[in-house]
Amino acid sequence: MLGKVFIILLIPVTIYVVYYLLNRTAKNSKTIKRVLSDQGKEILEEEVAYYRQLSGQDKQEFEMRCLKFLDTVKIEGVGVEIELKDYMMIAASAIIPIFAFKNWTYPNLTNIMVYPSQFNSTYQFEGHADRNIMGMVGEGAMNGQMILSKSALAYGFKNAGDGHNTAIHEFVHLIDKTDGTVDGIPENLLDKTGVIPFMNLIREEINKIKANKSDIDAYGMTSPAEFFAVASEYFFENPEKFKLNHPELYRSLSEIFEQS
Ligand SMILES: [Zn+2]
Repeated sequence: MLGKVFIILLIPVTIYVVYYLLNRTAKNSKTIKRVLSDQGKEILEEEVAYYRQLSGQDKQEFEMRCLKFLDTVKIEGVGVEIELKDYMMIAASAIIPIFAFKNWTYPNLTNIMVYPSQFNSTYQFEGHADRNIMGMVGEGAMNGQMILSKSALAYGFKNAGDGHNTAIHEFVHLIDKTDGTVDGIPENLLDKTGVIPFMNLIREEINKIKANKSDIDAYGMTSPAEFFAVASEYFFENPEKFKLNHPELYRSLSEIFEQS
């Protein structure tokens, strides 16, 4: 009797285990097989200088991370069509600053709205707006939202090396925000002992911008948060020039973003 009960119980358990194993294998092979289209790779190669300088293996990793990012964030055009090129440039901007952190996702981002150029000035958006509203990240009720201008997105990649990239700028604000505040100090990525020296570096460099003695975008004078975002744009777009002109800041940003 007990044997019969055991067999009756064993049947559904066996079915479940077999189903689970098959399902898991299917999922795994799906993950392994998934690759970025040739068209997507060509866009990265043509548009993204950071990607171009990666080794073959790192390029594959970068492509996978872009795909994962595009899976998790909804991107919609507002009065503008979004092309594959836009998707790829947005994904690249998201991955560049966090490429060293293998498991990083953006917990504070669900939606990106892409506007044709500068935003409608009557558009109500709670959050912080950048340089003639080329990009912004939402706060309060708009938490999890980002707005980018399509023209600023393209411009950021077209002029690689000029130190300006609006989309990277906005993602750096989101990274800064993961500790709760957009204040220019990414506490999650900075050693505790590094916070005060980094704040001092920011203060010194903002004074240099004010005295017209720095080539970091004057928008960085607005606040430490803006300074961190514009300095990071420059750091990722033209690391050689940044290293030459700002060796101490270069060391700090290399540590923060774990770039070698
Ligand atoms: Zn900003």
